[in-house]
Amino acid sequence: MTAKIRLFVDHPLGASQSVPLDRDQAHYLFGVMRQAQGAKIALFNGRDGEWIATVVNAGKRSGELLCETQSKPLQTPPDLWLLFAPIKKARTDFIVEKATEMGAARIIPVQTEFTNAERIRQDRLQAHAIEATEQCGGTFVPEVSDLQKLDRMLDSWPADRHLLFCDEAKVGETVRVQDLPQGPWAILIGPEGGFSPAERARLQNNACAHSISLGPRILRADTAAVAALTLWQQHLGDWT
Ligand code: SAH
Repeated sequence: MTAKIRLFVDHPLGASQSVPLDRDQAHYLFGVMRQAQGAKIALFNGRDGEWIATVVNAGKRSGELLCETQSKPLQTPPDLWLLFAPIKKARTDFIVEKATEMGAARIIPVQTEFTNAERIRQDRLQAHAIEATEQCGGTFVPEVSDLQKLDRMLDSWPADRHLLFCDEAKVGETVRVQDLPQGPWAILIGPEGGFSPAERARLQNNACAHSISLGPRILRADTAAVAALTLWQQHLGDWT
């Protein structure tokens, strides 16, 4: 049984579970995607895996689906956080979308000394993570946090979590991921202006931090995020 359309619902999923649709979801499924009663849709909620459900009621402003069988179990990504300094809106959206596809478990926008953004729209970024999960076939939606101060995060950094400090000052050095230990990790990507000398000094003194070069060229923050996620996933994550 296949279903092409995947939809995130914030509702429990299980055998014979009825799932009501809100106005936006009904509009999307029946108005935009032209689905009708009897259609099969793949549903996920980030907790119960993916379920094939049949449309039993297709209204203009509401609807109802009935779960039949589980088509995928919940697949949780490795324990990897992505910390990044938000940049321009479209590039920040890109980072959240790509981090979701690449399998980050948590996405944390951080304010560094040279970060321009004062605030972010957490709800919009979370919606991007949901959309990216719908599109990439995932069943787990990473939580996007509200903007955190990097300093504060480092004040209370969990001692068991390694930090992959992507340091532009290491540009041109050999990229070394083969010596990194296993365990919970976080990747840290700076803003367009890079890290301040004080931040760099502080990170260098942090026992959890491992600074790393991302090759011979300076990458834009969005490229750097994807490159670091690739290296990490290939070496320590679930790509192997
Ligand atoms: N304006 C800075 C570059 C910032 S690039 C400068 O010219 O030096 C944005 C972020 O991407 C950096 O803070 C770093 O986290 C990451 N990054 C980009 N290129 C990198 C590289 N070659 N090695 C390590 N990190 C890099």
